[in-house]
Amino acid sequence: MTELAHLFRELKAPAAAAALPKLADRAREQEWSYEQFLATVLKTETDSRESHGGQARIKTARFPARKTLEEFDFAFQTSLRRETVLHLGQLDFLAGKENVILLGPPGTGKTHLSIALGIRACLAGHRVQFRTATEWVALLADAQRSGRLDHELDRLQRIPLLIVDEVGYIPFDPQAANLMFMLVSRRYERASLIVTSNKPFSAWGEIFGDEITAAAMIDRLVHHAEILALKGDSYRLKDRDLAFGARSQALRLLPATRRVWGDPTEKVAKPYLLATEGVA
Ligand code: ADP
Ligand code: MG
Repeated sequence: MTELAHLFRELKAPAAAAALPKLADRAREQEWSYEQFLATVLKTETDSRESHGGQARIKTARFPARKTLEEFDFAFQTSLRRETVLHLGQLDFLAGKENVILLGPPGTGKTHLSIALGIRACLAGHRVQFRTATEWVALLADAQRSGRLDHELDRLQRIPLLIVDEVGYIPFDPQAANLMFMLVSRRYERASLIVTSNKPFSAWGEIFGDEITAAAMIDRLVHHAEILALKGDSYRLKDRDLAFGARSQALRLLPATRRVWGDPTEKVAKPYLLATEGVA
């Protein structure tokens, strides 16, 4: 083993070791200064560590899927201002220990955006944990049963971003509502939450089985928060809408006598949309 290979191994810098021969060639060709050469070699290593760290954080965050802000189609989701979302992507809200609340019907992109912001945070060096509201409650209930609730809330408080997905899909019993409230109030002004819900705040009393708990929780959640209200049709049905579009186009090609029934896409599309309403 050459002395350099040995030294890189001692330093645990495999990316720099791998890049060295090419960088040395380039440095000779382009007559880099010693400082420039050393900086480039070291930067190779720090870049690689950063991206590996990001990937490791993404893994431990337990996102249900990989989604990015770049993939988000703002032309489809017209109720959001692109600038608002891109600004959130700069992660100032994390530094300010503020929250992001995403409200809207199923399929409008709430989970997508929460993951995309979470992945941004991971890549920027922050720890993130993604769970559904039901999973958070189960985790906290477990800690409570074994007398570790306080310890668990303390541990979670040191994670800069927790994502609570799907508040409202399943109503909470009083213990669950109380645990959720504890999570929110512990993090208030100390660390960020992203919360998604398919129900407007006015229905949260029903979800939590108690108007007062719900009001106290909403108060803490929204005091320092960006609230995004998503509207519109489910993105999941987008391709089906396209299919209907294609179908009505095909029907226009039929002889006029076949079209006296009006536009059949109306009849098919409406009940279909109704039937899927409320489905996550
Ligand atoms: P919600 O959580 O609001 O029910 P999701 O975020 O799970 O909805 O979105 C459902 C699916 O549609 C996901 O695969 C998501 O990536 C996609 N999707 C939703 N809205 C958009 C959008 N505006 N642009 C691109 N993909 C979207
Ligand atoms: Mg969702």
